[in-house]
Amino acid sequence: MTRGPALEDLRARLNPAQWEAVTHTDGPLLILAGAGSGKTRVLTYRIAYLIGAAGVSPREILAVTFTNKAAREMIRRVEALLGTDSAGVWIGTFHGICLRILRAHGHLLAVGPDFTIYDTDDQRRLAKAVVEEMGLDPRRVSPGKLLHRVGRWKDEGVPADRVPDEVEEDVREFYRRYQDRLREARAMDFGDLLLETLLLFEAHPDLADHYRRRFRHVLIDEFQDTNRVQYRLAVHLARLHGNLCVVGDDDQSIYAWRGADVRNILSFEEDFPGARVVKLEQNYRSTQAILDAAWSVVSRNRHRHPKRLWTDRNDGDPVVVHEARTEEEEAAWVADTIAELRRQGMPLGEIAVLYRVHALSRPLEEALLTRAIPYVVYGGLRFYDRKEVKDALAYLRLVLNPDDPMAFRRVVNVPPRGIGASTVAAVEELARREGLGLHRAAQEAVTGGRLRTRQARSLGTFLGLLDGWRRLLGTVPLRELLLRILEDSGYLESLPRLDPREARERRENLQELLNAAETFEREEGGDPKAFLDRAALVSDQDLGPDRAEVVTLMTLHAAKGLEYRVVFLTGLEEGVLPHQFSMWEDGEVEEERRLCYVGMTRAKDRLFLSRARIRTLYGRDGGIREPSRFLGDLPAGVFRRVEPEPASPWPPQQAPAPADAPPADGGRYIQPEPGAVAFRAGMRVRHPTYGPGRIVRVQGRGPATKLVVRFAGATRKLLAWMSDIEVAAEDL
Ligand code: ATP
Ligand code: MG
Repeated sequence: MTRGPALEDLRARLNPAQWEAVTHTDGPLLILAGAGSGKTRVLTYRIAYLIGAAGVSPREILAVTFTNKAAREMIRRVEALLGTDSAGVWIGTFHGICLRILRAHGHLLAVGPDFTIYDTDDQRRLAKAVVEEMGLDPRRVSPGKLLHRVGRWKDEGVPADRVPDEVEEDVREFYRRYQDRLREARAMDFGDLLLETLLLFEAHPDLADHYRRRFRHVLIDEFQDTNRVQYRLAVHLARLHGNLCVVGDDDQSIYAWRGADVRNILSFEEDFPGARVVKLEQNYRSTQAILDAAWSVVSRNRHRHPKRLWTDRNDGDPVVVHEARTEEEEAAWVADTIAELRRQGMPLGEIAVLYRVHALSRPLEEALLTRAIPYVVYGGLRFYDRKEVKDALAYLRLVLNPDDPMAFRRVVNVPPRGIGASTVAAVEELARREGLGLHRAAQEAVTGGRLRTRQARSLGTFLGLLDGWRRLLGTVPLRELLLRILEDSGYLESLPRLDPREARERRENLQELLNAAETFEREEGGDPKAFLDRAALVSDQDLGPDRAEVVTLMTLHAAKGLEYRVVFLTGLEEGVLPHQFSMWEDGEVEEERRLCYVGMTRAKDRLFLSRARIRTLYGRDGGIREPSRFLGDLPAGVFRRVEPEPASPWPPQQAPAPADAPPADGGRYIQPEPGAVAFRAGMRVRHPTYGPGRIVRVQGRGPATKLVVRFAGATRKLLAWMSDIEVAAEDL
């Protein structure tokens, strides 16, 4: 056995139960423990121990995390512990890992190796088309519901031809046809990535065996949120050696609505009899007051493994409960409290504001904006779900797979180029009738005299553009390819026709996409297909900048696994948390309770809970809202109630500027004509989103000019012509 350089260090940084979990490397291991007890830390140290001390090669390890971001973080820590490269460890989400396997053995799949991944939007359109094709009335039979049912079958690991006969015929037929259409389009949806991998292993035992031999150690974080098919995949992979280590907390199971199944924890002990079970009871994250408050909420659930955490940290400050009159006042209180904490020296990156649903973020954002407190909203509309980003990627998809019907429909007339729905229908009809790929059919339609001259010409031009971009594949960098597509297609040019704010936002997002392409090129070699895979797999939990100097706003779901010194949990009202759709069923209230527990246990030092008596939500105006039942569960003595102020001062007082602040927002700023300004370092500028700043550096020339600008929140790199930046009149 070789000894890793930092082995003694590892041991010193773990408690005995954690160390036992790290070093128990032979046979199945279940670590069942509460929030902040070091589960993720144990997995990280275990990987380091396996490589550094137990002589396991990195390529024999498979680790599953809940987000891609968590995967990157874990690998970074392992490398820091080992002081070496841990390249070769397979680490990622279940979806990412399955995609990798499917791409590697694509020749065995019905869709081939170059399949497209459908996102929820594509799925919905396809579902709608299938419902119409079946002659069902979409107003009576909701495509969304059918899709949901199909999703649940996939989560259960049941393919279309194995759905039991008792299930309604319409549902079974929908599932079958939906899969047929996917296959024709050479596409998979998210659920397929998991299910197809399982089916692949079943159909090719030799292949399953190959991976089983390879992965001598399988580790899974957030095990309570795995669904059935993920569980079966894990069992498949670990069957040979039985070295499966899973960590989870039944109190934090919050994805039942997506098919996650806490019963996997129970199955584990059945499928692996004699599995070692380790419990961790010491919490290293939070103060006792925070733990007591969180425990009082979750311990009312009937279905849970009883456990209670302790900490040797002191009681800390009491949890603060604030009852505001309105959502605006709640937001003002949150923002004022943050301003005060900042004044006391709390870094903004250590502060998170959590809520049950995204709709709650708007007043919070406004309150932070007026106080010039930089923040980032994490998740929400996924960056890659934004219209302009999806349009751009649909173009790229079409360049790679000219038969992709969803991508074709999406961009063939965006921006408008006179190719209407009837032309598209004619092409699709032709493809179906003659059994042609969509691209061939479009070509035939152009030359075959089936369309009116003007439409044929427009379609011909579009196909010509596609061919042109296809010829660029492999010859120009990814970023340039994307930029060319956006320019040649007329997409960028069409933006100013929109409302200016909208246009600006879209331009910024496209700029961000180009940046992402450039980074991808630099870090992973710019294969466009791999870039699309990445875009498809990024979840809303993965995005968001590194939290340097900004407050983070996000949903409770997105906060899983994270920790912050200060946490605000807002909207503690009946109908919000617990959510109105989950208020009546016991099982669902239990999940809401767990969600509340997850939120509270993100806090290390300070926890603030708030609610508003009046809130407008879902377009319904100002109903009086009852306090969340979870507030009523808090034991006296751990919290302090703050009453609303008579009236919040208006306009709100400005928070003091940070020490290295850029110039104040005084004077006159002018938006220069593109190309008319010579940007130089030192110029004062103002950006519509980031506010005033100063140019630190200018890179490149002409349309490629990039500006490095220091704003109050952060220093950012912007593409000059795309960013709507204004220059101080005096500096021009
Ligand atoms: P969650 O359930 O929220 O995912 P977790 O059980 O995965 O939490 P970790 O995130 O691994 O917990 O650990 C919580 C915090 O406690 C981290 O900051 C971690 O570094 C710290 N920690 C865990 N174990 C120890 C230890 N033995 N000594 C010092 N710090 C520890
Ligand atoms: Mg964790």
